[in-house]
Amino acid sequence: MTEPLSSRELTELAEGLDQLARNLWWTWDERAQEVFQELSPRGWQNLYHNAVAVLREVSGQELRVRLQEPAFAEKVRKTLRAFAGYMQERPTWGDLHAPALRSCPVAYFSAEFGFHETLPIAAGGLGILAGDHAKSASDAGIGFVGVSLFYREGYFQQAIDAENWQREYYTLLAPKNLPMEPVLDEKGDPVVCRVELGMEEAAFHAWRVNVGRVAVYLLDCNREENQRHFRDLTLRVYGGDSTTRIMQETLLGVGGVRLLRALGIRPSVFHMNEGHAAFLTLELVREKLAAGMSFEAALAQTKAECVFTTHTPVEAGHDRFSAELMDYAMHRFCARLPVPFARLLELGRVNPQNAHEQFCMTVLALRLSRAANAVSELHGRVSRHMWQCLYPDRPVEEVPIGHITNGIHLLGWMKGTVRRFWRNKLNGQFGAGGTAASPPAGLDWDACINSAEFWKRMADPEFISDEELWALRYKLRRELIEFARRRLLIARQRQAQEDFIAFDQLLNPDALTIGFARRFATYKRAPLIFQQFDKVVQLARDPARPIQFVFAGKAHPRDDEGKRYIQYILHLSKYSDLHGHLVFIENYDVHVARQMVSGCDVWLNTPRRPLEASGTSGMKAGCAGCLNLSILDGWWREGYDGTNGFAIGEDAHASSVEEQDRVDAANLYRVLTEEVIPLFYQRDEKGIPRQWIQRIRRAMVTLVPQFTTRRMVREYVEKYYLTRPE
Ligand SMILES: *Cc1c(COP(=O)(O)O)cnc(C)c1O
Repeated sequence: MTEPLSSRELTELAEGLDQLARNLWWTWDERAQEVFQELSPRGWQNLYHNAVAVLREVSGQELRVRLQEPAFAEKVRKTLRAFAGYMQERPTWGDLHAPALRSCPVAYFSAEFGFHETLPIAAGGLGILAGDHAKSASDAGIGFVGVSLFYREGYFQQAIDAENWQREYYTLLAPKNLPMEPVLDEKGDPVVCRVELGMEEAAFHAWRVNVGRVAVYLLDCNREENQRHFRDLTLRVYGGDSTTRIMQETLLGVGGVRLLRALGIRPSVFHMNEGHAAFLTLELVREKLAAGMSFEAALAQTKAECVFTTHTPVEAGHDRFSAELMDYAMHRFCARLPVPFARLLELGRVNPQNAHEQFCMTVLALRLSRAANAVSELHGRVSRHMWQCLYPDRPVEEVPIGHITNGIHLLGWMKGTVRRFWRNKLNGQFGAGGTAASPPAGLDWDACINSAEFWKRMADPEFISDEELWALRYKLRRELIEFARRRLLIARQRQAQEDFIAFDQLLNPDALTIGFARRFATYKRAPLIFQQFDKVVQLARDPARPIQFVFAGKAHPRDDEGKRYIQYILHLSKYSDLHGHLVFIENYDVHVARQMVSGCDVWLNTPRRPLEASGTSGMKAGCAGCLNLSILDGWWREGYDGTNGFAIGEDAHASSVEEQDRVDAANLYRVLTEEVIPLFYQRDEKGIPRQWIQRIRRAMVTLVPQFTTRRMVREYVEKYYLTRPE
């Protein structure tokens, strides 16, 4: 006999769920997700896994009735207890190792943050990294606030038209349906700040996204008192022309600092994630000048407060603005400074005296930060060469740009199947009746799953057998194939195409599945694998050892070359001999990414070295047993050890682009036919590819605990946030 819940407890649980939905912690805890999913299974799917929207779907009355089901109430209670445990855990790593940051946090500025599919305000890897940085800062319990913009139309959604051409469309995000809250003052009114833009001023308010224990503030210019063009300034991620862009960056940098001041937050460090945020330095300088400091002293002190991470070895990737545009966009702001405008422009030029040189945000950021870093070892080297011009008196090895290799937030990238698998494994080893739903008391799943010790055990067949790992691989591959078929079916229905496709014959659940998904920037060379087209067709259609491909990715709206790549791959998937062996999933986002990095056997990466600063999607693959097949660029150059995946080519790059493409395509084909395919299909009498699974074990031991934002955030704390220049 179970007692009915008291009215007080019902209210407590309902309020608890509401709070839970408004904290992104649920995005990396599958038990919390299951609670929302159980409330409305269809809503969970149709609303794209949005806990806030699901909760709004369910009436208060329904919720109270549903909570009278003892098993469900118990699940909710357990989840809320786990959430409270996470929020209150003490002491945190940050308490012990970075107590100074607790009262004076790191303020991390980024033009985009990728947290989850419900809040699509990231364009790509840069934003995903920022989101993972925030999640791991929360896990570590360091003092941290994020600052970005709320783009109410987000990043574009991709649709493919009848010509296989990418079309962009935008949907309006409704704040009340998103995991964020308005930032209010003590009286309950929105906190409103102002920023000078062009000749005028714009007002903005902010939204707070709760990411576990930390907050990320999103600035929003969409206010009635603003003129139309300012209201639309925060419409889209990197929306519009260079005027929009410079004004968005002014809002982010200058406005971001003002918001933090208005909230009484006193950061000890300002971290600029890429040059977009670099105008924050000018606001810090302005504050100091207003307090009576000299320009030189203000520059020096600002420099002592800032750190900068550069993300691109692509020349065009660095924001540059003409002097005219600077004058136009920053006119009123600069007029407030008791310093000639020409003097400010010098801060963004390699050669301050060269009036023809454009204002470069990276140069400003490098000049006004006490420390700077690149995002992998090779990228560090490339960046020191690239920016040696700023330090003419130093040899290239002494250019002050270090590196911290990127990582991922491990739990956030595990899909439910994968998390449940590891949770069962962890509980199983303790015997004592632990199940996926209820881990034995005292077992810190979070610490375990992130520990090198846990992943070291993957070398041990006693801990996990080949059979178990292979069963997991099969399950994940099937889930991906079914996901792809469903997505393709929906796309066909939308295009109202009549011609018959047997969707259940697309992709083969037994075949070696190769995935490629990322932004379709041309340097990433999505079509490289098809350079040897006839040979690849032969491989794909080999009845004994078939291979197949799953592609996804968006091209920048103005990148026609990238769109042609997409068109070409779509064309191959529909009309060539690869039909049935190659699919393109539309509208790549973090949900698609999570499915693909789990379900594929091989994660293909073919950047034109050394243009991939780090790359992170390959890091997401390891915990699900997907192996990397990649050019030795970015993180893979550090991760690959000869036993834990596959390398295309060597630790070197050819001199000309044409030569490089030719050599890389040939190397790719060679490693595919000589290593990857034979290893995958070399089966024992039980049908198990022992050597392949050995590589999976090696990848889990050597890569998974290493390439995480848990490791990365700690490095930032120790090397950049806490240390001051001597
Ligand atoms: C991880 C991820 C990226 C970054 O992938 P790269 O390998 O760095 O290109 C981009 N977009 C989405 C949606 C991702 O999940």
